[in-house]
Amino acid sequence: MQPISLTDTQPINLHDLTLPELTAVCQTWGYSAYHAEQIWLGLYQNDATELSQLSHLRGDLQQKLAEEATLTTLRQQVAIDSSDGLTRKFLLALPDGQTIETVLMQFKGRWTACVSTQVGCAMGCVFCATGQMGFTRHLTPGEIVGQILFVNRKLAETGEALRNIVFMGMGEPLHNYDHTMAAIDILLHPKGLSIAPKHITVSTVGVVPGILKLAEEKRPFRLAVSLHGATDEDRQKLVPPARRWPLAVLIDACRTYTQALNRHIFFEWTLIEDENDTPEQAHALGQLLQDVPSHINLIPLNPTVGYNGRPTQRPQVKQFQAILADYGIPSTVRQRRGIDIAAGCGQLKAAQ
Ligand code: SAH
Ligand code: SF4
Repeated sequence: MQPISLTDTQPINLHDLTLPELTAVCQTWGYSAYHAEQIWLGLYQNDATELSQLSHLRGDLQQKLAEEATLTTLRQQVAIDSSDGLTRKFLLALPDGQTIETVLMQFKGRWTACVSTQVGCAMGCVFCATGQMGFTRHLTPGEIVGQILFVNRKLAETGEALRNIVFMGMGEPLHNYDHTMAAIDILLHPKGLSIAPKHITVSTVGVVPGILKLAEEKRPFRLAVSLHGATDEDRQKLVPPARRWPLAVLIDACRTYTQALNRHIFFEWTLIEDENDTPEQAHALGQLLQDVPSHINLIPLNPTVGYNGRPTQRPQVKQFQAILADYGIPSTVRQRRGIDIAAGCGQLKAAQ
């Protein structure tokens, strides 16, 4: 994240700051770590949505915040529930008028939030609605954390709670590495939202420097890597960044990660009929991941306007899974959620 400059005329967004950063800001204002913690509790345990709600603070600190600080506000622009009630999709407006998607999905009675890290995406995967719209900008840490605060409030209305967070909405999290990590630090903090690391999954298209950094920093959450092709030639047709980071380099980075953290990686494979769902490709995938502790998530394609492909049919999905099982690789077919509300990554925004 950018160093915090106190000479900036821009107010400081408190939701952008990790607790150590907030403490540093408070100290430059002449306040102690204790005061920073009081602000933090107000933000994340009391869920203040306006500075005036931080009324437990000393009067002079409230005054200072009124002069120098601001909070994230994400405005609900569209909200749609799927017909089965298990998927709720929100289009949220950012302060500059850009919009992002945040989705809530219920699995076995537990809610998972799917959050965005960018407006659009620079990676250009051909089947992805977000990739088709191109890149506009990175989200700030506060705009990422703000999505979780938003869905928490929505769930609280019905007495429900959030369980898991997946970074599988719009954008490539490791292209916005610093802001995504700052947001996760905020989400994990035990005196804040206190989300368990095992309940957070970051999904990447395979940005190798980012994966190596996660390994080096021993980041405790789960990692998913989107593959979609098991040879460079096949993968490059679907995922343009595959030209920059060939499979040999990517799988090497994945191995480094699994060894550094002593845990497996989830690999994602969007199944597209007659494109990447043949038995040969399943064998190539099984061989590719032979020595990488893996779990594969198979996601039948959610058709998008800009891509002329169809989802793999059930018998072929089963066959693909059976071949992977022969290689000792477990896999799960991820339900395609909220098809009736365009709940695939970026599809609601694309439809506006
Ligand atoms: N940029 C990251 C995270 C966001 S996309 C990544 O690519 O991993 C999250 C997952 O949704 C990825 O595995 C992506 O390939 C998949 N996806 C995107 N569009 C899809 C679609 N139309 N149908 C099925 N899966 C899709
Ligand atoms: Fe970006 Fe992920 Fe979509 Fe590819 S699949 S364009 S990396 S959001």
